[in-house]
Amino acid sequence: MQDLSRRIFLEKLGLGAGTAVLASALPYPLLAATPEAPLPADRKLNVALCGLGNYASALADGLQASLYCRLAGVVTGHPEKAREWKQKYNLPDKNIYNYQNFDTIAANKDIDLVYVVLPNALHKEYTVRAARAGKHIICEKPMATSVQDCREMIAACQKAGVQLAIGYRLHYEPTHLEIKRLGQQKVFGQVRMIDAGLGYQTYDIKEITNPPHINTATEWRLNKALSGGGPLMDLGIYCIQAARYIMGQEPVSVTGQYGPVVNKARFKEVEESITWQMNFPGGAVANCTTSCGYNIDRLFASADEGYFELSPALSYGPFKGKTSKGVIDFPVINQQAKQLDEIGKLILQNQPLPSHITGAEGLKDVKIIEAIYQSAQTQKKVMV
Ligand code: NDP
Repeated sequence: MQDLSRRIFLEKLGLGAGTAVLASALPYPLLAATPEAPLPADRKLNVALCGLGNYASALADGLQASLYCRLAGVVTGHPEKAREWKQKYNLPDKNIYNYQNFDTIAANKDIDLVYVVLPNALHKEYTVRAARAGKHIICEKPMATSVQDCREMIAACQKAGVQLAIGYRLHYEPTHLEIKRLGQQKVFGQVRMIDAGLGYQTYDIKEITNPPHINTATEWRLNKALSGGGPLMDLGIYCIQAARYIMGQEPVSVTGQYGPVVNKARFKEVEESITWQMNFPGGAVANCTTSCGYNIDRLFASADEGYFELSPALSYGPFKGKTSKGVIDFPVINQQAKQLDEIGKLILQNQPLPSHITGAEGLKDVKIIEAIYQSAQTQKKVMV
């Protein structure tokens, strides 16, 4: 509620959706507001969350704060979660599905969009099934665990005539819109080097001498078949994204190096840490790292006439940063509500989503991830 009140307050000041508050020390222009098609009166986009885990709870909070979307239904494998969510969010029985009866959602006019928040390897199946049911889709990052799956998801959505968005919440976050502007508009000249890292210490270091039993059936991030890979899939994708939107270019080649496996009991199937480099046309380099063994959350970009940096940079924030000319200081927003609102508004207006949020964007990241893994395995530079 606090976030919603803050957002309404900012919108009244003309500083809400699609705009950025000025950093006090910097003469940044406000981002141009886009002209808007009329929205249907009193109509919100009805969203069903598919997979009721940790991030679905954050999205449910975002939906509560959203101006253009509402939580209308859920898809879950656990009847007790179905009961809990039904009660908490006042959901009708007819809008509650399990994975077996999910396809019957096609007949439900009260669900417009399915938000896929499942383990990575299940994104493709549920996106394709939702598309066949005629529902728009937001699919969480990473879009899928292979480029081939991404292509099949895009094709299924095109065939069904539904829109597919990827859950890139930072594409609507003011600090990230700003670093994108600083890089792409060359505010400090041409960016030459980016250093980006996102990692979390996901285990107690005492585990090394006293290893616990790890159940990879429940800890899906450690299970390669369900995750597609380790922190590169889960966290490193934010480094790839940031480098790409600061440069406004696609990397031409990558090199990757697996880090040491410190916790051998835990990281049997996926990497614990990985570093990689992305080479951009014109010679700029992004040097990136991600890990489930140590904490890191920062971004630095060096350009011909200055620099900009954030720390925290790529997590949930609040983001803090500075440039060679002053501070970067934007208001904290509800990232999930903002992302849902910006996507929801366009779908309600029957407008196409911008390409930076669609499946085409998700595919680009997965293609780079595949190239980084290939390079780490072969110890050779891989062209993207
Ligand atoms: P969780 O493990 O917390 O939740 C996943 C849910 O998927 C489970 O609770 C379960 O829901 C359902 N599920 C169905 N089949 C399986 C299975 N075989 N194993 C495990 N779970 C299963 O994961 P997260 O919520 O953290 O992540 C889900 C997705 O969201 C991932 O793709 C992740 O990358 C993405 N994510 C995105 C974030 C962002 O900031 N954009 C942040 C965090 C995650 P149920 O019991 O209802 O069936």
